[in-house]
This record gives sequence, structure tokens and C-alpha cells, in this order.
Amino acid sequence: MAHLGSTILWHETLGPRRPRPPLTGTRTADVVIVGGGYTGLWSALQLKESAPDLDVVVLEAHDVSYGASGRNGGFAMTLLDFDLHRFAGNWGDAEAGHAHRAVARSVREIVDTVEAAGIDAELEHTGLLRVATNDAQLARIERERATAERLGLTGFDLLDQAGTRALLDSPSYLGGLTEADCAIVNPAKLAVGLAELAVARGVAVHEGSPVLDLSEAPGGVVATTPQGQVRAETAILATNAWAHRHPAARGWSAPLYTYIVVTEPLSDAQWEAIGWQGRHGVEDARNYVHYFRPTRDGRILWGGTDAVYRYGGPISPRRDRHEAIRRRLEAELVTSFPQLGRVRFTHHWGGPISITARFVPRIGSFDGGRVHYAFGYSGHGVAPAHTAGRILRDKVLGRDTEDTAVCFVDHPQTSFPPEPLTWVGAELTRRLLQRQDRKMDRGQDSGDVDPLLLRVLDRLP
Ligand SMILES: Cc1cc2nc3c(=O)[nH]c(=O)nc-3n(C[C@H](O)[C@H](O)[C@H](O)COP(=O)(O)OP(=O)(O)OC[C@H]3O[C@@H](n4cnc5c(N)ncnc54)[C@H](O)[C@@H]3O)c2cc1C
Repeated sequence: MAHLGSTILWHETLGPRRPRPPLTGTRTADVVIVGGGYTGLWSALQLKESAPDLDVVVLEAHDVSYGASGRNGGFAMTLLDFDLHRFAGNWGDAEAGHAHRAVARSVREIVDTVEAAGIDAELEHTGLLRVATNDAQLARIERERATAERLGLTGFDLLDQAGTRALLDSPSYLGGLTEADCAIVNPAKLAVGLAELAVARGVAVHEGSPVLDLSEAPGGVVATTPQGQVRAETAILATNAWAHRHPAARGWSAPLYTYIVVTEPLSDAQWEAIGWQGRHGVEDARNYVHYFRPTRDGRILWGGTDAVYRYGGPISPRRDRHEAIRRRLEAELVTSFPQLGRVRFTHHWGGPISITARFVPRIGSFDGGRVHYAFGYSGHGVAPAHTAGRILRDKVLGRDTEDTAVCFVDHPQTSFPPEPLTWVGAELTRRLLQRQDRKMDRGQDSGDVDPLLLRVLDRLP
């Protein structure tokens, strides 16, 4: 297992690109959006679609593909909470079904937008395959299928071992569950394509423009960057893993790092040996899932297995690699597909995601409705950020819609406590979840009982 580099594959595929110029000077706008990832860009696009005359400005600290939106696994999928079963258990069948349908609609709308606008995001609408590698995981996917059926959701199909291995062949697979509403994309190309589309629709996008202060001002808000200021009636806070840095949102979410490895392009013989028919995005049913997918240029991207919270929640390029997790990810891929033989890995990176105490997104408003926010997708935000864009648009436009009625919108979720309690709680939860994964592998845990700490968290408001 040779290891060659540490760059983000997706960024390499972007080619030369001139960033949008930073904000300079003072200007006014109707809406200022802080953060130029998917949440910020989809909000801008959907606002412009509904109200073309609205003056919308996006301020991005780095570039639009810098955050999780430019470095994720590229699964546009429906997942909210740990799984549908847990989500329905915590919020009720009607609420879970309603939220699931809103995100499934987003998967389809992302596909439609990408196709209609001709964005080369390497999108493949191939669906999700969830595989089970032990009996407890098998029980989980069967339970997931039953929950989907009970909620009246369509597009979920259980597969036996042979059916699963016919789609992707690993000797460890015992069964699988397919879900139609999932697409895989090149996430950085999607982010850049959305930014270009937003600019074409009249949105002002400024990169290299970190908002140092977002505060109330007469009649609205003022966002201050090193070289400029935007005065606007309304702001949208779309900074996801960085959201806890805003004083009003302190403790509402915590940044966790998740990591990925990527192989070199596989040979035809290697692809044939694993027979990845249908090119689904794939996850297993562990607590700390492995997520993996083929890339357009014939590699396997393989991520997950762990997620790390560090004391105080620092976000820094120094966290972009994690050697122990890299080694584990590489070894796990090789173990899952022994028929691949020798595999070389060319890329490894990670990035910050945003977790909330209830594992569902946090979407709402503060400062008397002058600032709306959406973050906390718990590592599954590609499609939900589009849903959040619809919700934030409706909030800015003062509309009550099906989307603003989603159960976690304006929900007073509990916050994380000050350190060291958040670190202790995060580490304890991580260890309990990992212990359950190991026990499920050994056949000592049915997989249906959440660790105590999660049950405690579920009791919180
Ligand atoms: C390694 C990894 C793999 C993942 N895989 C998947 C996956 O396969 N499927 C899935 O659904 N989800 C996945 N996710 C999660 C998903 O990428 C995120 O949920 C989603 O991209 C969130 O979008 P966002 O726009 O809210 O946040 P981000 O993309 O993080 O954007 C926030 C932006 O705000 C900017 N910002 C921060 N502070 C300021 C400031 N003060 N002023 C101006 N700008 C600021 C940042 O620079 C950043 O660009 C993954 C995440 C990671 C890290």
C-alpha cells in the first residue's frame, strides 16, 4: 500500500480557476449571505429564482470549494439523523416522512438543476446501496426498509446476498438495501458550478472575504470583511462547521473531522473483479459508516470509519490529515475487496462537518428575524443543504411553506455544554459507538439498542 500524496482529488479536477474578487468598499444589498458552500449558494440561487429583483451578496472567506462542499464524498442522499428508523423514533412517523420527502425532492432538484444548467459536476443518478457485513447490520437494513414502508416512502428495495454481490462483490456482504433517491457528484465542481450559475443569475459572489463581524444595524444587519462592508435588510449564516464561532450560535453545533482515502485509477481487470454494476454510492450499516463510490476517472473513494472532535473545536488545515485514520481506511478497503490485489492510494484528506446534539440540522432565525441560519447536517449535508436553501429562501421572503414546516426548523434544540464537557461527551459517545460496531462484528450486539449516551441525548429538548 504505497502512499503518494495528500491533496484533495476534487480540487485537482477543477483546473485553473480565477476566484471571484473580494469585497471592497461599502455597499448595500437586500440579503447578505455569509459562507459560500452549498447552503449559501443554494439559498442565493433559490432567492433569485423566486425574487429575481432581490439584491443578493455572498461573502466567502476562502473560495467556494474550500469548505465541506468542495471536499466531501459526493453523495447527494436523503439521510437525516443516524437512520430513518431512529429519526422516526425520535420525531414521529409523520414528521420523519415529511422531512425525508423534502430532502428526496432536493436530490431530484439537484439533478435537474445540474442538467438544466449544464454544470459538469460528474453527476451520476445511480442510487444508494447500503450493505450489511454482519447479522446486526442485516437487521438494521431490514428495519430501515420496514420503516420506509411504514412511512409510505418508495424506492427502497432489499437485496439478498447474491443480489447485493451482483451489484458490488465483496465476500463480506450478507445483504443490501437500495434507495433510488441518491446521486454521486464531483462536489468541488458542483460548488464552483453553482457559484458560476449564481453569478450568471445576478448574485454578487465575493471570495477571499471573511466576515469578521455580523451585527445588527438600523433597519437590518451589517457584515464587515477586512476590506469592505455590506449593509442588508437580512442575513443568512451559512458557515456550517464554523457556525459556532458566531456569538449567537455558540454551543449550537460542534465541528467534527471526517476523512477519506482515494485509490489510483483501477485497471479494467480490477473493476471486473469487483463488478461494481450500476455505480451506486455505497455505505455499510455500521455506526461509523464506511462510504465509498467510484470516481469518473476510475478510482475508488473510501471514507468514514471514524470522526474526530478535538478539544475546543479547532478548525485548521493542520487537521486535514489523520495518519492513523488514513492507515485504517486503506486497510479496510483492501480487506473488503481482497480480489483487487495490490492497490495504491494517491490521496488522503479530511474536513470539518457540523454536528448538533440531536444529529439533525439546526435551521432557524435570530436577531428578531434579521439573521436566518442553517447548519449541523451531521456529515450528510449535500442534499439537505439544498433543502435548507429552500427553507432559508422562504424565511427571507416571509413565507410559511411545506418546507418551513419540517420538524427541525425553528426547533429549540439543546446546546452543547462548555468545555471540557463537550469533549468528554463527544469522546464517550465515540467510544460507545465504536464499541457497539466491534460487538456487532463479533455477533455480540443486535445493533438495535443505541448506546446509553445517545438515549440520554434523545431525551433532551
Ligand atoms: C470529508 C467529508 C466527506 C463528506 N461526505 C459527504 C457525502 O458524501 N454526502 C453528504 O451529504 N455530505 C457529506 N459531507 C458533508 C457535506 O459536505 C456538508 O454537510 C455540506 O457541504 C455543508 O455545506 P455548507 O455550505 O453548509 O458548509 P461548507 O461547505 O463547509 O461551507 C461553509 C463555508 O463558510 C465559509 N465561512 C466560514 N466562516 C466564514 C466567515 N466568517 N465569513 C465568510 N465565510 C465563512 C467557509 O470557508 C466555507 O466555505 C462530507 C463532509 C466532509 C468534510
